[in-house]
Amino acid sequence: MADDLPARETMEFDVVVVGAGPAGLAAAIKLKQISPDINVVVVEKGSEVGAHILSGAVIDPSGLDRLLPDWRGDETRPIKTEVNDDRFYYLTQGSALRLPNFLLPPLMSNHGNFVVSLGNVCRWLATKAEALGVEIYPGFAAAEVLYTDSGAVAGVATGDMGIGKSGAHKDSFTRGMELRAKYTLFAEGARGNLGKQLIAKFALGEGREPQKYGIGLKELWQVAPEKAKPGLVQHSFGWPLDNSTGGGSFLYHLEDNLVSVGFVVHLNYTNPYLSPFEEFQRFKTHPAVRDTFEGAKRLAYGARAITEGGYQSVPKLTFPGGALIGCDAGFMNVPRIKGSHNAIHSGMLAAEQVAAALAAGRAYDEIAGYEEAWRSSIIGRDLFRVRNAKPLWSKFGTLIGIALGGLDMWTNTFGFSLFGTQGHGKPDSATLKPAAESTRIDYPRPDGKISFDRLSSVFLSNTNHEEDQPPHLVVKDMALQKSSEHDVFAGPSTRYCPAGVYEWVEEGGAPKFVINAQNCVHCKTCDIKDPNQNITWVPPEGAGGPNYPNM
Ligand SMILES: Cc1cc2nc3c(=O)[nH]c(=O)nc-3n(C[C@H](O)[C@H](O)[C@H](O)COP(=O)(O)OP(=O)(O)OC[C@H]3O[C@@H](n4cnc5c(N)ncnc54)[C@H](O)[C@@H]3O)c2cc1C
Ligand code: SF4
Repeated sequence: MADDLPARETMEFDVVVVGAGPAGLAAAIKLKQISPDINVVVVEKGSEVGAHILSGAVIDPSGLDRLLPDWRGDETRPIKTEVNDDRFYYLTQGSALRLPNFLLPPLMSNHGNFVVSLGNVCRWLATKAEALGVEIYPGFAAAEVLYTDSGAVAGVATGDMGIGKSGAHKDSFTRGMELRAKYTLFAEGARGNLGKQLIAKFALGEGREPQKYGIGLKELWQVAPEKAKPGLVQHSFGWPLDNSTGGGSFLYHLEDNLVSVGFVVHLNYTNPYLSPFEEFQRFKTHPAVRDTFEGAKRLAYGARAITEGGYQSVPKLTFPGGALIGCDAGFMNVPRIKGSHNAIHSGMLAAEQVAAALAAGRAYDEIAGYEEAWRSSIIGRDLFRVRNAKPLWSKFGTLIGIALGGLDMWTNTFGFSLFGTQGHGKPDSATLKPAAESTRIDYPRPDGKISFDRLSSVFLSNTNHEEDQPPHLVVKDMALQKSSEHDVFAGPSTRYCPAGVYEWVEEGGAPKFVINAQNCVHCKTCDIKDPNQNITWVPPEGAGGPNYPNM
């Protein structure tokens, strides 16, 4: 019983930031730049900063230019490879059609952007934050939001440690810590667990379109030196996805013969037999890209959800005592596949408002200026121009949808739209068709050289969880999982999970849902796509999860 537990240790701060991604770190840095006296702590669930960061990434440096104007002269910066060749392809099974760059709306250009490992950028930003006096606690997940008696957010608590699978306390049991603050900024990234609770509690999504998502899978490869083209950035759409399934690929050449290759599938897909992982593996075998991987070595693998709802899905950002920033708020620009610049901009914008509130002696109230400012800020301008790209793609399919989306982005460049602001329709959990109305997809067997299976891939994510702990993937109603997820939809979790966490196995003549939670790479796809919203991702104990080296 909770009453029998020893009290949690409490620490007091001016500001608690949840998550050491670009949004959280930018907020922490900005607060200290404004006033070195502001007392700021950042909690991060990864074993170290960057361990859970997975991104492309080609970054638009506009955020960094504002946060750290001298970054280009900093010898320690992990941002060295400027984009020098930008290509966009439409793929069919055997061919690739390159779209001329002059057809692409100017905002899609990658001129002046940089190819990076976002994990390494975060590690570097963390050193900047610490140098300014920010305290960073890696290995601690914020598991619970704390409230004042009047219902304002008052900080977070980290989870208790040392609880066994059965719920019993082990010898190692220790209580979590309460990190209390006048303001708390939530920067958990896409589908933040606490962000989701806050959106529900404060009805932040009211009057907005539902949030939409994609799953992004990525591998890092070391290629032969003659195949490395640092600064080359390539995107594609089309094959292997059919015309009614949104998504596409990215292929980014970094320094040191490294190539990032990835694939995004929009999570409003309808066929429960679709496997984003297998689509990604198939993509790498296309003649337009296959040669890059011949004789090369795969170094790392991972997956992460991205937000895709854009401008019309951004919830209200503020509530008494805190705010959502970065992808916890949904500031991803989908057609550009870029969100890290807006994460930094939003962290700074929120930090400025919090610093002003603290200077005025305020606490636990709403920093309304942040909510009022974002639409007219650089973030709002970035997202407004592309607001119809995703809904048009969803409504009209890939070929017509992309053409219309492209037209809309062009007209928006000149300040108008023929489409107004399109809605998104259903949330992604409601788009699957029953298996009986869907076609099975036979994926080719992996060759172990260019395409791989799930388990050997998860191995490369260095994922690790304490095995004897309560499951961090909580199924509300097992009977519903069987009667609907299994019987109606043929177990889509076994295909959408990029880490092979879910299996339906026969036990005693009946199907049994098995959860291999230790494999989970924290992508959050199950929390989004389960057709009954019957699975909830909660933070596991301590530093569990992937240990991405440079993703
Ligand atoms: C495959 C893929 C490709 C992408 N490509 C690009 C690209 O090329 N360019 C670009 O600009 N953007 C790209 N993005 C998007 C970009 O990565 C995000 O917009 C950006 O990372 C958002 O930053 P953030 O700080 O909001 O969240 P994140 O980067 O997701 O960081 C959140 C941090 O919070 C931590 N955290 C979460 N919950 C908790 C908790 N409860 N307690 C403690 N810590 C917690 C996480 O471990 C993580 O470290 C891509 C994304 C994906 C998935
Ligand atoms: S269990 Fe859920 S969060 Fe974990 S890897 Fe699978 S889909 Fe992603």
